Amino acid sequence: MTHIAIAGAGIAGLAAAILLTRQGYRVTVFEHVADPTPVGAGLLLQPSGQMMLQNLGLLEMVRDKAAIVHSLEGYSGSWKTLDLHYASVQQDWHGLGIHRASLHQILWDCARNSGVTIHLGNGIADFIQDHQQVVVQHRQGELGVDGLIIANGTRSQLRERLDIKQIHRPYPWGAFWTVLDKDDWPFPHILMQRYRGARIMLGILPTGINPSTKRTCYSLFWSLPKTAFSEYQHAGLEELIARVRAVWPEVADWLSGTPTTSISIAEYADVRLASYHQQNVVVLGDAAHAMSPQLGQGANMP
Ligand SMILES: Cc1cc2nc3c(=O)[nH]c(=O)nc-3n(C[C@H](O)[C@H](O)[C@H](O)COP(=O)(O)OP(=O)(O)OC[C@H]3O[C@@H](n4cnc5c(N)ncnc54)[C@H](O)[C@@H]3O)c2cc1C
Repeated sequence: MTHIAIAGAGIAGLAAAILLTRQGYRVTVFEHVADPTPVGAGLLLQPSGQMMLQNLGLLEMVRDKAAIVHSLEGYSGSWKTLDLHYASVQQDWHGLGIHRASLHQILWDCARNSGVTIHLGNGIADFIQDHQQVVVQHRQGELGVDGLIIANGTRSQLRERLDIKQIHRPYPWGAFWTVLDKDDWPFPHILMQRYRGARIMLGILPTGINPSTKRTCYSLFWSLPKTAFSEYQHAGLEELIARVRAVWPEVADWLSGTPTTSISIAEYADVRLASYHQQNVVVLGDAAHAMSPQLGQGANMP
């Protein structure tokens, strides 16, 4: 039986593992983190990603944990500058806002039940390939396989071992984000954003069921130039709330009324490859084509 190794048990690695196992391949996934439950924020799954989940037979399960998103709308002051409705493209289309941990758990359970072997806390450090096979060097030894899929995310160093022209360009922008529970937010089906010129973007994404609290939750994104991160961190949460208040007072009230608001930082990069494979090694997911999450495409492309 053809044996494929996959580096990374993220969204791309797990989806590929399930599909390949169903096609009769033997699949072994190596994940360098010992407990891969991702904490992360919400993701917007586009119709393309939903089609892939349908192929995997997982769309209904995902829908149960997700929020239906009908439109992406944004205001600069009282001026509506973004007004995109899925139904204007195709009547029955919509987005699905879901917590990253919920999507990951569904893929994880499916991979396990499909017979995928997953080694946790055992990353792939390097590999050697020839036309016949690939020898992967993992933390606990070596394994000879017929093919290797590199799906270990934006900062993949395995990708850099390939003789393929590639760009890894960190974005000058990133975001502060948090996930907040709320039962009575007025836009449960809209990815709503507020802007101040091109400098400030505050967005609220309906994120479905919070896997920790089982309540309806939303992801809050505050995009910033990376050069401003340390200034904001130094200023602290109260000052961030004051700055949010100037853009969207209702969100500032929400933030200040949340007892344990923990704010995380996300940094992004642009990754491009001249080719996605070399001999029997293939690159997938963010390792192959990372981009700004503002495009809401990353998780849909694996
Ligand atoms: C704040 C934020 C918001 C986003 N919003 C959206 C959105 O709305 N819609 C959307 O479609 N996308 C969004 N994205 C992008 C999306 O999250 C990514 O495109 C997607 O998670 C990529 O999945 P992946 O499996 O390729 O990589 P990852 O999820 O990064 O998984 C890579 C895995 O590889 C493991 N690993 C690393 N090195 C090794 C190694 N050497 N050996 C073995 N394992 C290793 C890591 O531990 C990890 O588990 C967002 C991203 C961010 C940061």
